[in-house]
Amino acid sequence: MKIGILSTNKNLYSTRRLVEAGKERGHQMLVINHKRCYMNITSHNPSIHYNGEAIEDIDAIIPRIGASVSFYGAAVVRQFEMMGVYSVNESVAITRSRDKLRATQLLARKGIGLPVTGFANSPDDTEDLLKFVGGAPVVIKLLEGTQGVGVVLAETKKAAESVIEAFSGLKANFMVQEFIKEAGGAAIRCLVVGDKVVAAMKRQGKEGEFRSNLHRGGNATLIKITPEERSTAVRSAKLMGLNVAGVDLLRSNHGPVVMEVNSSPGLEGIEKATERDVAGMIIEFIEKNAKPGKTRTRGAG
Ligand code: ADP
Repeated sequence: MKIGILSTNKNLYSTRRLVEAGKERGHQMLVINHKRCYMNITSHNPSIHYNGEAIEDIDAIIPRIGASVSFYGAAVVRQFEMMGVYSVNESVAITRSRDKLRATQLLARKGIGLPVTGFANSPDDTEDLLKFVGGAPVVIKLLEGTQGVGVVLAETKKAAESVIEAFSGLKANFMVQEFIKEAGGAAIRCLVVGDKVVAAMKRQGKEGEFRSNLHRGGNATLIKITPEERSTAVRSAKLMGLNVAGVDLLRSNHGPVVMEVNSSPGLEGIEKATERDVAGMIIEFIEKNAKPGKTRTRGAG
């Protein structure tokens, strides 16, 4: 097969591993910088161009779309879909999971465990919002944040009010969440491919840090997950409509709670911590499932 990887940097670990895994299985692998793709949107012969040439004969794509290019990246994936190219994660699912609030609402609707979460527009409602989530300490999150940036732990009611006032003043959208203290600064990343968790790791934030993100200095180790955690991760990916997803869970007193469902999960941390060939499993999934025009919108709302 000829498989395209949408990635802005061919030297990134995840991109390199996918290229390597595809070649090992005899596929032709192409790294396509989606930021440099441009498209002709017509109903008869939609096309995508790159460096002056039309991209043709691609059987499947693996979108690796960073949060900063979500809008343009999703448009490129959609264009490939219009051309009948199979995408391992489809455009609607990517957009759905990128929107933290929408994703949280969809997961809640289907009974997935979540931290109690509040969302409001007016700062006049702060008092009530803080009550919903059980009062301070609370976690306040910018909807646009990634890699732990814009995720604040407010330990007192006063601190929470100040942060909410500041975010509101900047016209930023944010959610307020129950703080899962018992997670102890750790999160579990489950790598889902198809309907299986193929690898799982525990990320632990550095000393004194409640955020477990590897980008914030956290470290990763292999972990054995419970059947409930496994099914929560698989159901969450399915609800988002993602075939490949990184589902982040916290261990709370009320069972596993989902933090995030990531449509372009990094492979470096998880492959190193688990010694699993995740890239190979993604390619295998494509071999089994890719057919022209087979990308279809699935998942909830
Ligand atoms: P991002 O998408 O920027 O990574 P997350 O919402 O995943 O933001 O939060 C980053 C990290 O902060 C999580 O992986 C987790 O370790 C910690 N965290 C986030 N929300 C909570 C919460 N409600 N309770 C406890 N820890 C949290």
